[in-house]
Amino acid sequence: MKTSLLVAIPRPLPTLFSYLPPPGMPEVVPGMRVQVPLGHGSSVGLVVATATDPEPGAYVLKPVRRVLDTEPLLDEKQLALLQWAAGYYQHPPGEVFFSALPTRLRSDRMLSEPAYWRALPHPQQHEQLARAPRQQALHTWMLEQGQALSADALRLQVGDGWRSYLQGLLDKALAVQTAAPLPDPEGPAAPEVQSSIVLSTEQQDCLAQCLAWCRQEQPRPILLQGVTGSGKTEIYLRLIRELLAAGRQVLVLVPEIGLTPQLVQRFHHFFPGIALSCLHSGLNDGERLQAWQDARAGRARILIGTRSAVFLPCPALGLIVVDEEHDLSFKQQEGFRYHGRDLAIMRAHQLGIPILLGTATPALETLHNADQGRYHHTRLQQRPGASRVPVREVQDIQGQPLKAGLSGPSLEAIRATLARREQAMVFINRRGFAPVLTCRSCGWQARCPNCSAYMTYHARAGRLLCHHCLSGRAADSCCPDCGHQQLGTHGQGTERIEMMLAQQFPKTRVLRIDRDTTSRRHALAEHLEVIHGTDSLILVGTQMLAKGHDFPRLTLVVVLDVDQALFSSEYHALERFGQLLTQVAGRAGRAERPGRVILQTSQPHHPMLLALLQQGYIRFAHQLLEARQRWHFPPFGFQALIRADARDADTALESLQQFYEQLAAAAIPGTRLLGPAPAPLEKRAGRFRAQLLIQCQTRTQRHQCLLLLAGGGKKRQNKKDLRWSIDVDPVELS
Ligand code: ADP
Ligand code: ZN
Ligand code: ZN
Repeated sequence: MKTSLLVAIPRPLPTLFSYLPPPGMPEVVPGMRVQVPLGHGSSVGLVVATATDPEPGAYVLKPVRRVLDTEPLLDEKQLALLQWAAGYYQHPPGEVFFSALPTRLRSDRMLSEPAYWRALPHPQQHEQLARAPRQQALHTWMLEQGQALSADALRLQVGDGWRSYLQGLLDKALAVQTAAPLPDPEGPAAPEVQSSIVLSTEQQDCLAQCLAWCRQEQPRPILLQGVTGSGKTEIYLRLIRELLAAGRQVLVLVPEIGLTPQLVQRFHHFFPGIALSCLHSGLNDGERLQAWQDARAGRARILIGTRSAVFLPCPALGLIVVDEEHDLSFKQQEGFRYHGRDLAIMRAHQLGIPILLGTATPALETLHNADQGRYHHTRLQQRPGASRVPVREVQDIQGQPLKAGLSGPSLEAIRATLARREQAMVFINRRGFAPVLTCRSCGWQARCPNCSAYMTYHARAGRLLCHHCLSGRAADSCCPDCGHQQLGTHGQGTERIEMMLAQQFPKTRVLRIDRDTTSRRHALAEHLEVIHGTDSLILVGTQMLAKGHDFPRLTLVVVLDVDQALFSSEYHALERFGQLLTQVAGRAGRAERPGRVILQTSQPHHPMLLALLQQGYIRFAHQLLEARQRWHFPPFGFQALIRADARDADTALESLQQFYEQLAAAAIPGTRLLGPAPAPLEKRAGRFRAQLLIQCQTRTQRHQCLLLLAGGGKKRQNKKDLRWSIDVDPVELS
């Protein structure tokens, strides 16, 4: 009997690989990285299991070349979670395992402990630093802290320039690099809390309920459903405090956009002195590695991050919170298409720890789980203090003249809001609703040459941009078809609305918040600062504005593109619309000012719109669930979307057709196949796209289908230029 190592290799290969332990080095354990021979070269790999080979010599295994770690990077529970995920999402295991490691550890780079620094007092420090006030301030602060400080702590205090000020101190021998401080062996005391907020009775009951549920053995997930502004975050904070007091770590998952400075500041403020790591898209690889190491060493007690933070190693994990659990950004939309919330639920289950799912608008699958009793369910129905739920009104725009999409009454409402020195927001779901350059004479429209899509006209830059392949060019000055000089646009975009509003309200600041204006690091934070520091203001924005932000002076919201959601062919669209509308409406009328929401639509009597407005999101969601049950759509069925694309028009469709026939022949019961058909966006970046939707009654049936697909994978890979992917539990069918 001989032991072999099962190794995951970060390449799109369908299996794990077996190797022999390196001769004379038996202490390789799962979770360590190794360097292994592969083909004519070598590769980094992660040992995920050891296996006993019953017939040594049946085939010749090669030995591992080098062991890269002295201790495992991932523990057994994490390895088990990732192994499960690779199977569930049918994604190459090597890519799955390596996606749980920070980029810097995906190579053969050795892991070294992160740097910490301590300030040194010096009798002449004031003279030495007289001409460097920022260094002086940093030095004083570091001395006051009296302990070794991480890069994170320094950045938080000083800002992005911290490294150069610190270098100044190091050069003058006023600071030294030291070892990391050890976690307190006594365990932390219950953290001191600074909060002036007294919980309402409803909040107290909710918290007590959550605490009791958290203490159960093998606790079930908890759905905390609270209207926007009902104080869910206050519940998270107090629940987290309990876990910290018990010496545990807490993981908080937030949507991409929800990770605002506001939320992190609230955590810092509530837990002064508690080490908190924050993982967001603005971090560089070094910073990510540091946060990962702090989590793994137990130095960081609270970890806040977007979906990939679900993979952080946390040896003392005691609670996971998923804020805005319904948010789409928890689903990775390329490569390893996992759902961060779902993996978090799995992780909590595996560890036997509680998980709290917070939202005003639960995802249909979450609501269904709560209805079925698989999740606990607690509610916050009121807004504490004086704030009220805003008044919502439907405005019929059929036949009304519009200015950049806004009706006369909407503009009037904005004017009245500004006159009260309050803020107004114009909200648009920009996806698929952008200005298109059009010829007024012959009807020509600017299309992307690579995609079956129109290009978006960006007026300020005078450019056309395709939002599908990101190719751009200067806008035409006259029609390429008929030479007509009058080109115009139809459809609304945030930029066009911004320009119109600036003309209408020349004395008022108009602030546009969308992907374009917030792509720069810190841009969103700067915008939020302006919003908080200004009285009357008009905000124009997209989804980004709907989430989590607190705008005390905002009292009017105008929603422009209601019709689009009502008539989408995508069965997810109404759910998203209900969530978005409820979230957007929740932005208006916090604090003492009553809020008002205007919905512009040409379908004021649409039954689902009325259901949402008159009966609220939960009743609306239950109606959607009934419809889904009739159609056996999720959560009453289980889907996987197979996408394929190729440069040639027929290749993708043909390959999916082959798979269709294979599946049809296998006749797996409870299975329906929809397609194959061209994707809604048939051509993108020069490639033709097709898809096949598999819908099954059970997860097991779906898994059987996917295994069949994996079995035929080799044959398809041999077709040059064909790319395909599997999306399990798809959240978008495009
Ligand atoms: P949610 O997360 O549900 O949207 P938040 O926790 O952000 O709600 O609370 C909304 C606002 O109400 C915040 O400004 C918060 O400080 C405040 N708030 C929450 N609970 C209370 C309370 N019990 N008393 C006074 N203000 C509260
Ligand atoms: Zn023309
Ligand atoms: Zn394009």
